[in-house]
Amino acid sequence: MTDRFILALDQGTTSSRAVLFNQHGKVVGIAQREFGQLYPQPGWVEHDAVEIWATQRAVMTEVLARAKVRHNQVAAIGITNQRETTVIWDAETGEPIHNAIVWQCRRTADLCQQLKQQGLEAHVQATTGLVLDPYFSATKIRWILDNVEGAQARAERGELRFGTIDSWLLWNLTEGKVHATDHTNAARTMLYDIHNHCWDQTLLQALNIPTSLLPQVQPSQSLFGQAQLGPVAVPVAGIAGDQQAALFGQQCTRAGMVKNTYGTGCFMLMHTGDKPVQSTHGLITTLACSSATQTPYALEGSVFIGGASIQWLRDELGLIRNAAESETVAAQVDDNNGVYLVPAFTGLGAPYWDPDARGTLVGLSRGSNRCHIVRATLESIAYQSNDLLQAMQQDAELTLTELKVDGGASNNNLLMQLQADISHCDVVRPSNSETTAAGAAYLAGLQVGFWQPQQLAALNPPARQYQPQLAEPQRQARLTGWQKAVAQCRFKGN
Ligand code: ADP
Repeated sequence: MTDRFILALDQGTTSSRAVLFNQHGKVVGIAQREFGQLYPQPGWVEHDAVEIWATQRAVMTEVLARAKVRHNQVAAIGITNQRETTVIWDAETGEPIHNAIVWQCRRTADLCQQLKQQGLEAHVQATTGLVLDPYFSATKIRWILDNVEGAQARAERGELRFGTIDSWLLWNLTEGKVHATDHTNAARTMLYDIHNHCWDQTLLQALNIPTSLLPQVQPSQSLFGQAQLGPVAVPVAGIAGDQQAALFGQQCTRAGMVKNTYGTGCFMLMHTGDKPVQSTHGLITTLACSSATQTPYALEGSVFIGGASIQWLRDELGLIRNAAESETVAAQVDDNNGVYLVPAFTGLGAPYWDPDARGTLVGLSRGSNRCHIVRATLESIAYQSNDLLQAMQQDAELTLTELKVDGGASNNNLLMQLQADISHCDVVRPSNSETTAAGAAYLAGLQVGFWQPQQLAALNPPARQYQPQLAEPQRQARLTGWQKAVAQCRFKGN
């Protein structure tokens, strides 16, 4: 029998990747290409959507060629993508009418302010689960319609299509036949009603966005269309935004299961079952990966400066030569010796939401050395993640037993042990770190019967588990030290 595979397309903010999975869930090939980041003005970020598709198509071909897998051996394609990034294209020609506006782009800050003045903030939160912010797609759509000549009229005539990157790839993969997205991506547009599962008319009217622009919304695990792979038609059978794909890839599929991705920033998601949880700590309510029978919810929070603080130690302070060295340097001391770093370089996110907070290093004494500062920096990643974790548990009224981890900095054993100690829970790192691509692959594989649901847990078993070792009084003392440090960084002088 010929081996068959699932092809996951992992379209990220800086690169397009294609990852090939075999029947055992093992990665048998990866191809990756970076593409250009465009910064037309301070605070503005764009991508060339045509380049995104070109790089994505190239890595698809490359990964199959390198792994010597024929087109007809691909059982299905799954897509995972950078979320919120907005593309509008011509339905006839498939040409984007403007560069993609990237999630990081702040150009619609004024428009968001206006919408707040119109009193829409509470409606946005109640309907979409989001905070009213330029991050999400809605105001980016408005900006393109306002700034490309004739775009509003063309949109009203039904000549244009909007999509997040998943929709853009799907449109191209199906040669313009399918205009669709999944629940997780729709939930990031700030136009989707996550309770009634439909586009929200109030927001569409407030932003004057014609319905004809919008993709059809389907379950994450469903048949989206047939991609033309050389001469072969291959089903696109799974789509999810990157963080929700990682949640699924970590097999967090029941209420109370949490994953944290330790990258430049940290992204934490908690599955909350079929119950949408409204946060009182500034977390976002969003949709987790769905199927024909389940539309689960998740709570989401992020740490702005996670692994980036390690880069700061390396590049700005010169205390370490590379990221991995943070572990060996911090391990030279037994504890932080009272030193705490709060890396609020760009303000603090949930649960504090203080844009004016700035980075602070406290508790220095004559005996403080480089190792203490490096250790305090690693600890800050764990403390910030713990703040999110505690907020989620309180909001969801759920107690967590284990935290699943991935991302570059999750390879730091000391950091993972610190997280287990500080959060007083088991920390579990899976053997395959490609959890985002795995999530997309699992969705597609389930849909076409390549895998059965009961097989999934075995596809990516734990590689390493960290158990809490810190006695409760010490844990409390450290948490108090962290809270004091946070209070200091929020101090506003005259
Ligand atoms: P992203 O997807 O956000 O680019 P990655 O998952 O590739 O991030 O992780 C890279 C980040 O993790 C960088 O900020 C880097 O400083 C940090 N990092 C990588 N390896 C380690 C390590 N061993 N210890 C601590 N931090 C690390």
